Amino acid sequence: MRAEGIETVRHILCVFPRYTSSFGTFEYAYPLTDGVQAFMPPQGLLLIAAYLPANWPVRFIDENIRAASAEDFRWAEAVFVSGMHIQRQQMNDICRRAHAFDLPVAIGGPSVSACPDYYPSFDYLHVGELGDATDDLIARLARDPSRPAQQAVLRTADRVDMSDFPIPAYELAETRKYLLASIQYSSGCPYQCEFCDIPGLYGRNPRLKTPQQIIAELDKLRECGMTDTVYFVDDNFIGNRKAALDLLPHLVEWQKRTGYVTRLACEATLNIAKRPEILEKMREAYFVTVFCGIETPDPEALKAMQKDHNMMVPILEGIHTINGYGLEVVSGIIMGLDTDKPETGNALLAFVDESKIPLLTINLLQALPKTPLWDRLEREGRLIHDDDSRDSNVDFRLPYEQVVRSWRKCMEVAYEPEKLFARYQYQCDYTYANRLKVPVSPEMKSWANIRRGLVMMRNIFWKVGVLGDYKKAFWKFALGRLRRGDFEGLLGSAMIAHHLIMFARAASGGQQNASNYSIRLREASVPAE
Ligand code: SF4
Repeated sequence: MRAEGIETVRHILCVFPRYTSSFGTFEYAYPLTDGVQAFMPPQGLLLIAAYLPANWPVRFIDENIRAASAEDFRWAEAVFVSGMHIQRQQMNDICRRAHAFDLPVAIGGPSVSACPDYYPSFDYLHVGELGDATDDLIARLARDPSRPAQQAVLRTADRVDMSDFPIPAYELAETRKYLLASIQYSSGCPYQCEFCDIPGLYGRNPRLKTPQQIIAELDKLRECGMTDTVYFVDDNFIGNRKAALDLLPHLVEWQKRTGYVTRLACEATLNIAKRPEILEKMREAYFVTVFCGIETPDPEALKAMQKDHNMMVPILEGIHTINGYGLEVVSGIIMGLDTDKPETGNALLAFVDESKIPLLTINLLQALPKTPLWDRLEREGRLIHDDDSRDSNVDFRLPYEQVVRSWRKCMEVAYEPEKLFARYQYQCDYTYANRLKVPVSPEMKSWANIRRGLVMMRNIFWKVGVLGDYKKAFWKFALGRLRRGDFEGLLGSAMIAHHLIMFARAASGGQQNASNYSIRLREASVPAE
């Protein structure tokens, strides 16, 4: 479905802002690849691009790849921007540059939907999801493309049903320059973890696309050249278990049809470990990674944040079960919780060792608007506003410096090269060994694919194995994999490990934010070079 009945033609420039460097965007890994420059294509902007009237020319620029140029702005009649809180400064910078060309600028997406007042200089605020606000915005621009005299706030009251969503305009993105492809099946989550803004923004009753839409999207991603890994960005893939079970057989069939060249990944609650029927189907559909918000191994803390569902099975047992289906667990961890004690850091490091999870995003607690945590801290007078010197807006129970020191220590120790490669070794030997044995398709044997593998191998061997300063740990791991002929395990693990090691060093040296959600923006607003 797309907007209809609009005769006037407008040129729309969609600009996605640059990310502030963060743990979860893997930029240290890019130089080891064959040309990756950005993390994932943004679903929201590409969805809006696909929804615009069919006769409206659209340009999409991801400033993580290249900055919007003067020629782009001269071409455009209006500019659309979208992003998360962490991109706030960059979004305001795009607005400033567009205004220099006297263009109207509209902003949509999660940040403005939660905090419209962060964006006073934009001409149009699109608050909420695709819906009547989107139609209103299109109609206003069709009528008059000049900047309105004052800001217009357009709020979606009537959302477009997800089953009517068009396929995002992936064809506009430079797909080969992304680390991962993204896709969305559902929106919303039935739980209410205290710190999370998903239920407040997108609801507790997950809304869904149809399996047929997902298959059509996957086919389009393939047509656009994105075949390696497709990440389901759903807030919780099993938020509606029946829907997940409905979709999985379609994914299995799609993999059989296309030759299993695509690996799948998703985010889901840890209680997925209690659902062998889902895990088995995920294995058959060639899911290889699941991100679980474990947050903390401390049961008291999980209870306090209303994340009791993480305790439906003992955490380590749950991880082991998930690994048994060939799924590597990636974990979110939060430090600075009210329940944290001076020994929390050491307990966390023990958990990292025991869980054998290689990749944990360890963040300091950050209170996001529209969350129960925000409301509680506001009541308690523990929200800190406008203090650029801090990595969190929460007044912790423990002294701030102690919490940050503990976070830095955890990053430093968890990502010591020897420890990290030992965890990857376990994943190769246990988790990856449990994966579906997929046939070698002609696509995998193609020269283009072999060439990519060779480029990555050259980069990794040269930049890490020869020039790197953790050569010993790398070669111990690499030689073990080479002896087993496991090139795939070697390349994938070494590439991500490099990012983790380098980022953790910067973090423990105080050069990176302690929170992926931090409103402390270290970089000035830098358009891409
Ligand atoms: S389970 Fe995940 S998505 Fe759902 S409310 Fe909790 S943190 Fe948010």
